[in-house]
Amino acid sequence: MKFADLHLHTNFSDGTFTPEELVVQAQKNGLVCIALTDHDTVEGCARTAAACAPVKIEFIPGTELTAEHDDTEVHLLGYFLDTQNSVLLEEIGRFQAVRKQRIYEMVSRINELGVPLEVEKVFELANCQSPGRPHVARALVKAKLVRNLDDAFERFLKKGRPAWVPKSKMSARQGVDLIHQAGGLAVMAHPGLNRTDEIIPALVDAGLDGIECYHSKHSSTLTARYLEFAEKFNLLVTGGSDCHGFSKIRPLIGSVRLPYERVELLKTKVAALKQSTLNGRA
Ligand code: AMP
Ligand code: FE
Ligand code: FE
Ligand code: ZN
Repeated sequence: MKFADLHLHTNFSDGTFTPEELVVQAQKNGLVCIALTDHDTVEGCARTAAACAPVKIEFIPGTELTAEHDDTEVHLLGYFLDTQNSVLLEEIGRFQAVRKQRIYEMVSRINELGVPLEVEKVFELANCQSPGRPHVARALVKAKLVRNLDDAFERFLKKGRPAWVPKSKMSARQGVDLIHQAGGLAVMAHPGLNRTDEIIPALVDAGLDGIECYHSKHSSTLTARYLEFAEKFNLLVTGGSDCHGFSKIRPLIGSVRLPYERVELLKTKVAALKQSTLNGRA
């Protein structure tokens, strides 16, 4: 059997592995195909593709967008993206700017609570265009201002905690459209994490292509539940570990192994979409 992992992060967003380190891990775990889905960026794709080529691992360029529908947050995975697509780059660039601004706001709130975290330390540690809460958490740990990452999220960064700053989000429909116009497939990420079942029909209506049934935080009951949703709404099935490197004790890569046949079905759909775009233009 051949297996893939279609949900992975590097240090181009909030993962800790470089693209090259990620590919070494993919190899160790015997994966034949990986997708990079860094938050709001496709910057790591070129290096990941380059590292995959010599070791014969198939690479799918992707991203993970934060969107919302009816005030419900939903993460959208985009696969087979044209990473040079100018509309995509412009749009994610805006979200990267928002992310940076949000770091200033989070740190200033932490400072107001009497915790002397320096914002420069967060940017230094993040060293990427798409910084987020995990970078603030790691900087707090590094400066010995909290005990560990969980402590940072519990005290400051979790939704509803004093330094939690909401992100401005695109609508789910905008997210799906953005992915489609860049030649990609739009997939609902980890539906079991936020239990957002009631918005699935609206996402399908917006053009959703697939749903991430297999995820490191899905129990087998949840996986079965979303496989049923996939069947009901005729959605493609994806899966991935959502590995963020060593942010957890053990990297999650390898914990979710998607049978490669699922990837073939994705590729069939992208090819069909490409063909219909070409026919539309003719
Ligand atoms: P952001 O996109 O800046 O809101 O950060 C979201 C990221 O933070 C997620 O992708 C996870 O990697 C991480 N995260 C969210 N909640 C927690 C938590 N309670 N503990 C550790 N990491 C978390
Ligand atoms: Fe993340
Ligand atoms: Fe996510
Ligand atoms: Zn993710």
